Amino acid sequence: TQGLMSGKRGLIMGVANNRSIAWGIAKALSQAGAEIALTYQGDALKKRVEPLAAELGATLAGHCDVGDAATIDAVFAALEEKWGKLDFLVHAIGFSDKDELTGRYVDTSEANFTKTMLISVYSFTAVAQRAEKLMRDGGSMLTLTYYGAEKVMPHYNVMGVAKAALEASVRYLAVDLGGKAIRVNAISAGPIKTLAASGIGDFRYILKWNEYNAPLKRTVTIDEVGASALYLLSDMSAAVTGEVHHVDSGYHTIGMKAVDAPDI
Ligand code: NAD
Repeated sequence: TQGLMSGKRGLIMGVANNRSIAWGIAKALSQAGAEIALTYQGDALKKRVEPLAAELGATLAGHCDVGDAATIDAVFAALEEKWGKLDFLVHAIGFSDKDELTGRYVDTSEANFTKTMLISVYSFTAVAQRAEKLMRDGGSMLTLTYYGAEKVMPHYNVMGVAKAALEASVRYLAVDLGGKAIRVNAISAGPIKTLAASGIGDFRYILKWNEYNAPLKRTVTIDEVGASALYLLSDMSAAVTGEVHHVDSGYHTIGMKAVDAPDI
């Protein structure tokens, strides 16, 4: 893959630490020769993201809270000034009140429903609006989703509803932007132990369940998600758009656990 992304520049949003899916993607893109910019959410994460950016020789594009449009505008203004154009965009951002990532979906509050939708769904459209203007020679946008969008997963609740909306927005954005040679796709990643995932109830059990029941009999790593992201962000996938690509050890293919599968 060396040189696959040389001459390409992209913004990666959602690195919180070295366990973030966005970090797996950043490493893969950087190894393939891309120039990268990272954002961080607030000063506490800046301390973690700064050394990671330095490790890849990446640009620190500043603080961005996607709930605050002014901070999104500031990041894109800085990128326009520095690069003048953009080739790819990664959105690896999600949020919901962890008190509602346990128990029943039916008990979701209006306030958390609205916030979850704004941060986990609308924000992708918000950054796509800004990125469109900078993708003068076409481009590729990628977001991260989860199987809880398609089927009910315990505790995923409002986040599942949000991911379903996010996947639908990938298709609408793909149509809107296709005429400008801008592609829009999602990776549906299997469960990975990250900061965001630690807010989901019984997460260790979910990991074990996937390990026992996925066709590959294991979970996935951020580096494997990174490698698949490299495909979707590079010209290797030039004719792929509006797609939700599962990187989940094949878990989504399973309808029922085999009779002789080990109990957990
Ligand atoms: P993570 O905690 O490392 O990353 C989540 C990121 O979202 C953080 O960098 C955080 O700063 C950012 N974020 C949250 N609210 C924000 C806001 N208001 N403004 C800007 N940034 C904000 O966890 P992760 O698991 O790497 O999550 C990345 C994406 O992958 C999320 O969309 C998540 O839903 C998705 N995903 C995760 C898994 C998993 O099992 N970990 C599986 C499938 C999909």
